[in-house]
Amino acid sequence: MPSTSRPLLAGIEAGGTKFVILVGTGPDDIRAQTRFPTTTPAETLGRTLAFLQQAQTQHGPLAAIGIGSFGPLDPHPNSPTYGHITTTPKPGWAHTDFVGTLRHPFPHIPIAFDTDVNAAARGEWRWGAAQGLDTFIYLTIGTGIGGGGMVQGRLMHGLIHPEMGHIPLARDPSQDPFPGICPFHRDCLEGLASGPAIEARWHRPAPTLPPDHPAWDLEAHYLAQALHTFICTLSPQRIIMGGGVMQQTHLFPRIRHLVQTSLNGYIQHPSILHHIDDYIVPPALGQQAGAYGALALAAEALGRESAP
Ligand code: ADP
Ligand code: ZN
Repeated sequence: MPSTSRPLLAGIEAGGTKFVILVGTGPDDIRAQTRFPTTTPAETLGRTLAFLQQAQTQHGPLAAIGIGSFGPLDPHPNSPTYGHITTTPKPGWAHTDFVGTLRHPFPHIPIAFDTDVNAAARGEWRWGAAQGLDTFIYLTIGTGIGGGGMVQGRLMHGLIHPEMGHIPLARDPSQDPFPGICPFHRDCLEGLASGPAIEARWHRPAPTLPPDHPAWDLEAHYLAQALHTFICTLSPQRIIMGGGVMQQTHLFPRIRHLVQTSLNGYIQHPSILHHIDDYIVPPALGQQAGAYGALALAAEALGRESAP
């Protein structure tokens, strides 16, 4: 299709703290964008609709909308609660009908709905660090910890969707007496290694801790333990790590080294043994991975609909 007639898409990154919306035909052609804090569902989805409608007035009709959202959520199109955010502890958002709210003013275009991390994975696959791969994971280490990605060319869903942030970890109380902050599991991965967990353990916001602070070796230790599990269960061809905490880029070499040490030569593949710098990587789309990913979901949904 010639670039002049590429369809206009909207990508909505619905985060627990902020919404980012892009309207355009791809990352190289963004026509409008906005971001605003996540407040109540009525106010936040109201602002979302107002922005999309204004963008249509200025730039023409939207062909598809992609949403990458915080969760837990229902991504199964045949389910009665498809398109809903389900049991989130985020005040006011449990059982919000996200897709239904957009469907009403946009009755005839595809609306794709998936987790924020599956969206980011889709964006990295289409335009970023996972191009050409069919099995990889995308992790975000931020206010929460989430993981998604593709297995043999398909985004991971299954029973509901993966919750990689809530795997149990081995914590040695003599090294780390902090009990963890997950309201469900206390010292799961998110309970020990999310941004708020770091702040609660060290009594300082994570961005203010200097690179030589012991917080970061402990953080790398927990993240490497989690990656060991994901490598052994999913056999990903690459692991992309984003989110606010990974802006501490000195974590990458520490995690790579600890993953090699922990696996101890058992996974005999050059990607892990010799090329780990290309195996555990930051998102190529940077902090915009989530929003571009939502745009990628819209593009795929349109492609599916227009396929013969
Ligand atoms: P969200 O998860 O809400 O979408 P982020 O991915 O930015 O947003 O995650 C926010 C969390 O990441 C906060 O807990 C914050 O303390 C932490 N964070 C943000 N920037 C940094 C940084 N440069 N270094 C360490 N931690 C950071
Ligand atoms: Zn948990």
